[in-house]
Amino acid sequence: MDNGIKIQFLGGVEEVGRLAMVLETADMRLLFEYGMTPGKPPSYPMPSPTVDLVLLTHAHLDHSGMIPWLFSRYDQKILTTKISGEISNLLHKDSIKIAKMEGYAIPYSNSDVKEAKQSVTPIGPSQKMNLGENYEIKSHDAGHIPGSLMFELIGDKKILFTGDFNINDTRLLKGTKPVECNILFLEGTYAGRDHPKKREEIEKDFLDKIDEVVNRGGVAVLPAFAVSRSQELALVLRKAGYDVWFDGMGRKVAKIFLKYPRYLRSAENLKKALNKVNFVHSDHGRKLAVKSEVIITSSGMMDGGPVLSYMNKLRNDPKSAVLLTGYQVEDSNARLLVDKGQLDFYGVKQKIECEVEYFDFSAHAGHSELIEFAKNCNPEKIVLMHSDNREALADPLKDVAEVIVPKTGETVEL
Ligand SMILES: [Zn+2]
Repeated sequence: MDNGIKIQFLGGVEEVGRLAMVLETADMRLLFEYGMTPGKPPSYPMPSPTVDLVLLTHAHLDHSGMIPWLFSRYDQKILTTKISGEISNLLHKDSIKIAKMEGYAIPYSNSDVKEAKQSVTPIGPSQKMNLGENYEIKSHDAGHIPGSLMFELIGDKKILFTGDFNINDTRLLKGTKPVECNILFLEGTYAGRDHPKKREEIEKDFLDKIDEVVNRGGVAVLPAFAVSRSQELALVLRKAGYDVWFDGMGRKVAKIFLKYPRYLRSAENLKKALNKVNFVHSDHGRKLAVKSEVIITSSGMMDGGPVLSYMNKLRNDPKSAVLLTGYQVEDSNARLLVDKGQLDFYGVKQKIECEVEYFDFSAHAGHSELIEFAKNCNPEKIVLMHSDNREALADPLKDVAEVIVPKTGETVEL
């Protein structure tokens, strides 16, 4: 029986970061995501109570980054795909490394990270599982990064928790489709912003720009997120014939992707694309890369990783270019580059003479796509989350359903 549902967001509701939501029914308590916002310093959600199960939609740190903390206190089970379990483990270990390097406290240890990895209960896409006496959980492919899911909780009512999702096909993944439900928890990363161009057009513009840079004798530096974007760019460049070098954690992530071909649009194409790039293994490789034509490297926000060593060598070269393909959050180095033409090299700001351009390779549904998706889910209630601009969605969605815009910490009965 369904005696009403209570929810409380522990974070990430009015921002694109540290997402966490507790959902309570008469007989169980679930935690959807437990993320952190990587930053200087990182920020965390409110402490979570003990729950019966943790549901993780995908590996990105703003959804998964705080999960090891749970294991410093409780024993929990985490429902997610095997691939998300492996990638989040890689990101958790990296977060501890970065925190130590930067001198920030991080609220969990390597042994908590290990326990989190061992506590994954794997679920595949489009799989159904019983949850207690009165509920079933069904997973749906989210089209955001390999292994990403949306969760459908089926009891008297159907509840859909989208996590991050994309409805458009990319080189790496197929886009997702709406799921009919009564209550929709909708992410809003792109609230108020549309994707002005189709993927194919963006790819064409992007390749044209690389052509221009290479023809004038410059290097195209592509700072890219290690999870998903860097592999997607390797796919986009597969047939272009450039001398491409690939540096950073994206290589380890690519290896994990290839272990789970069912989560990729074409593992064969990814293999072929990766066979065409040169991987940087050492300082010697880095010296060769900086004289090549294209470098794909982390980090995407340019706050650390090998991209800074490349930029330090190329910063005075107006023939070279930095081509950004991801969103630049406020206070990130990539944002500083776009706004002021500068980069912060570990505390020293330097002027960058290279050309800088942004290409909208998004892994999220855009504003109009979010509205269309919500309409087609046909819900009675929509809860808006994971957005710094929920007002932009709340208004048009009022014609679709009752719109709920909770605050962090507030308990809402649905
Ligand atoms: Zn994400």
